[in-house]
Amino acid sequence: MCQYCRQVPCNVRCPNYEDKPLTYCGCGNPIYAEDIYYEICDQIYCEDCVSECRRTAARGDFDAEF
Ligand SMILES: [Zn+2]
Ligand SMILES: [Zn+2]
Repeated sequence: MCQYCRQVPCNVRCPNYEDKPLTYCGCGNPIYAEDIYYEICDQIYCEDCVSECRRTAARGDFDAEF
């Protein structure tokens, strides 16, 4: 057992805490505990991916205009 936090595994705030990613985004970015991530259609995305995918629709962006 850890001498600092007395938890197994260590508490996130413990100095002994090993920052291991819980999962990875499709882009390869690690996602750590308490990170923000997005689940879209059963896929995990990191914050970077989602902000890079964010667009403001403008005329001419799309092939078909309605
Ligand atoms: Zn600890
Ligand atoms: Zn990503």
